Amino acid sequence: MTRFIFCTGGVVSSLGKGVTAASIGRLLEARGLQVIIQKLDPYLNVDPGTMSPYQHGEVYVLDDGTETDLDLGHYERFTGVNHTVRCNLTTGKIYSSVLARERHGDFLGGTVQVIPHITDEIKRHIKLLGRESEADVVIVEIGGTVGDIESQPFLEAIRQMRKDVGYENSCYIHLTLLPYIKSTGELKTKPTQHSVRELRSIGIQPDVVVCRADYPIADDLLDKISLFCDVPREAVIPLETARSIYQVPLVLEDYGLGDYLMRRLNLQGTAPDLGEWRQMVDRLLCPTKQVRIALVGKYIELHDAYLSVQESLLHACAFHDTRLMLDWIDSEALERGRIDVTEALEGVQGVIVPGGFGPRGIEGKIMAAQYARENKVPYLGLCLGLQVMVIEFARHVLGLIEADSSEFLPDGPYPVIDLMLEQREITDMGGTMRLGSYPCNLVPGSKAQRAYGTGSVNERHRHRYEINNRFRADMEAAGMVWSGVSPDSKLVEIGELRDHPWMVGSQFHPEFKSRPNAPHPLFREFVAEALKQK
Ligand code: GLN
Repeated sequence: MTRFIFCTGGVVSSLGKGVTAASIGRLLEARGLQVIIQKLDPYLNVDPGTMSPYQHGEVYVLDDGTETDLDLGHYERFTGVNHTVRCNLTTGKIYSSVLARERHGDFLGGTVQVIPHITDEIKRHIKLLGRESEADVVIVEIGGTVGDIESQPFLEAIRQMRKDVGYENSCYIHLTLLPYIKSTGELKTKPTQHSVRELRSIGIQPDVVVCRADYPIADDLLDKISLFCDVPREAVIPLETARSIYQVPLVLEDYGLGDYLMRRLNLQGTAPDLGEWRQMVDRLLCPTKQVRIALVGKYIELHDAYLSVQESLLHACAFHDTRLMLDWIDSEALERGRIDVTEALEGVQGVIVPGGFGPRGIEGKIMAAQYARENKVPYLGLCLGLQVMVIEFARHVLGLIEADSSEFLPDGPYPVIDLMLEQREITDMGGTMRLGSYPCNLVPGSKAQRAYGTGSVNERHRHRYEINNRFRADMEAAGMVWSGVSPDSKLVEIGELRDHPWMVGSQFHPEFKSRPNAPHPLFREFVAEALKQK
């Protein structure tokens, strides 16, 4: 019988519910169990694909092309399990399917209501994931905070789940905040008590309360929460802000959450093995070297917009026993001349240009690529980062664009990209983006191929534009190596410069496949090359 763990959040948002759910997954996996995690997002968008990174952080992409919430990235990085379209559910998705059935006449004249039709549809998706994944444990994270209007149908659905699958197969974990009052120097439990009361008022009694705080949590506070919230003392888990999110599974393990869940859900497993994880965390926290990398992007005010890129850099740095010093550089400020490219990039050991959409900031990214090429600074381009590297090369090495591009400049959504890159309709995917995992053959002896150490790979995509094949031969003659191509050779997947220590760009997003104990080869080699710079 599949066990279900439901994670809710209280008091405030942004407490790290995603990291907590992912960490619980890790603890169970460390005991030999198979887990999968599902995120229920209360917003009305059908998926986050159309949402601005400013509002919601990065859009994470799965193998099957599903565009998801960034928490799915945590799930995959902590558990190593590849998640699927079943793992991210939104209010928009639920309502669309119920309304489509209503139009189809499936409800035979009945009144369609939130309870039971919407809640049934939510439960159907939760159970379906359990059946299809054959996981021992399905962890379900409910987005938002208890008390929000939007999340009510989801909370009602998980309340009913206990009735459906039984007490012994279900567990509710509630994550709260203990705020710190400076004047008296104490942490307060009242918001937690209120939040649990709110949860109980809708019929959910938490089995576990995880308390986040920015300061150490004294035992008497945990006793108090246990008493007032009616939760066993051993199931009140303190979670003080950690230096790295990768410490969270270790903290939860030290406070006995893994063993508690095994007992509570009557699960049979092995003794917990977190040895490798612990070593990775040690390398991450106490490195002996350091490296300075510039990330040139346009959403830099919100670091969550580049979450997977940052994490991938951290994985690679941990591998190299290195501390990451990340300079955030605003590509729009570069292109408007508010900051000087040489001043901004002087002394950095590597330049990374991540993905992005829309024309804003593109010229600034091209300036960064030019700086990296001319100064032989290691460069890693991710999707748009490859595209700007190719445009820069075509303009300044081939002298190709300037003459022809003027007509494209005024209105084209992508001024010069329109010429260098072709937009393709990916109709078999039902949309205009190339989404999800595609195979890529690597050219033997190329930098990319040496990094991967294999002949072909599968990588995740999310883009509209492709390198224009009309220019491939000319660019190759001028020193561009198309080191990764689709099996039919029609699509460029990786480009790199022949006469440069390490300037590599990929049409795909390698950052979605880096794992803390298995850094992505392109990030790993990029950091290795950066470390060679003085
Ligand atoms: N906007 C570019 C495209 O659509 C790049 C997208 C990206 O970086 N993911 O091709």
